[in-house]
Amino acid sequence: MKAAGKAGLLRPPAFSYRPRRDIRPRLSNRAQLFCESVSLERLAERHGTPLYVYSAEMIRARIKAFQRAFRAVPYTLCYSVKANSTLGILRLIARLGAGFDVVSGGELERVLRVKRQAARNVVFSGVGKTVSEMELALKAGILLFNIESPSELRTLAETAARLKRPAQIAVRVNPDVSAETHPYISTGLHEHKFGVPIPEALVLYREAAKYPRLKVAGVSVHIGSQITDLSNFQDALLRVAELVRQLRREGHEIRYVDAGGGLGISYEGLQQQFAEQISAYAEAVLQPLRGLDVHLLLEPGRSIVGAAGVLLTRVLYRKTNNHKRFLIVDAAMNDLLRPSLYRAYHEIVPVSCRSQEKETTDVVGPICETGDFFARERELPVVGEGDLLAILDAGAYGAVLGSNYNTRGKPAEVLVDAGKTRLIRQRESVKDQLRRERL
Ligand SMILES: *Cc1c(COP(=O)(O)O)cnc(C)c1O
Repeated sequence: MKAAGKAGLLRPPAFSYRPRRDIRPRLSNRAQLFCESVSLERLAERHGTPLYVYSAEMIRARIKAFQRAFRAVPYTLCYSVKANSTLGILRLIARLGAGFDVVSGGELERVLRVKRQAARNVVFSGVGKTVSEMELALKAGILLFNIESPSELRTLAETAARLKRPAQIAVRVNPDVSAETHPYISTGLHEHKFGVPIPEALVLYREAAKYPRLKVAGVSVHIGSQITDLSNFQDALLRVAELVRQLRREGHEIRYVDAGGGLGISYEGLQQQFAEQISAYAEAVLQPLRGLDVHLLLEPGRSIVGAAGVLLTRVLYRKTNNHKRFLIVDAAMNDLLRPSLYRAYHEIVPVSCRSQEKETTDVVGPICETGDFFARERELPVVGEGDLLAILDAGAYGAVLGSNYNTRGKPAEVLVDAGKTRLIRQRESVKDQLRRERL
């Protein structure tokens, strides 16, 4: 397999092809895809498909790479919960000492369920926080609210006063910097709904300082997701650094700079060594902040979990419409929306390498939408009905974007860790789905 490379490593250390000599002699000469030391074929047999499979070792390696890259400065890594919020994943990340970035009360409740004390390392982002979400966060005693508008600031001030609880705040600024990513995941231009333009932020900080329960504590920025040109981060943080100096001149105590998330990953399989990528990212973030003496907050999501997960799916049918080939698989856009929503590319590989022969085909789900596809006109090794495919790099913005469209249950999710497999989310049944409906 070309994509697998010489060593058969697809996404080290998580996913690789290995000869499978155990169990079934019939398959003995075929390389099979493994997650760590666990055969994906076996996981599919045991848990059914579609199935999300995550590698704990990969997630740990990514967190540790961040920790190494930023060890020279005071920082807190606040994993962005919205990338993958399954409790089993959050617990793994909490155990590595990370904090969390949440964008809803629901996400905060997930974090509290996993580790109550993690609240003090929680940053609350998002343009539309409701009063009840603010109450929850104030009672939990989170680290920082990222404020995105004057009205939100006033609502938080009132809520904090009513509950008699303190709230540390940062204003999320909109630096008017392009992220050069897909328009739906670009957030740092004035035309986007996110953040406050820097001149208006100055006014907002002055107002914030007047509310007794609010404590101005930081400046926050997040310019988008899947960013691969690191100079975009540098541009944004140069503007943030300038703002920090200005705010300090005005007498505000700015302790934190929240640099957001957004570091991109390679979906094409050409994995730059993550250690190198992360140290270049650290340089882009830290260089503009040099000499400022701030505590850095980082909110990575995709770069931690993206490459750590695959979506396993079985080929239901092969079909040809006038020479155009289709592989109809049992996963669909409700399980993994990224190709339909962003036209995102995901590498797709057979779990078992049977054929050297290749064909050009679409890979589509069973949902009644033309947009229900995982790949179009893709060259793939020939696979048969009943064969398993792995859709790679599905760990971020995969399961979390799932829906019940076509009354399809959300897939099961398993976490592989040191040879052990844990079912971290049961497959959703139709009964589960109907439970909340009334006739
Ligand atoms: C989505 C989001 C992140 C995480 O982005 P990634 O691209 O997954 O790293 C971080 N911060 C905020 C405010 C976000 O909205």
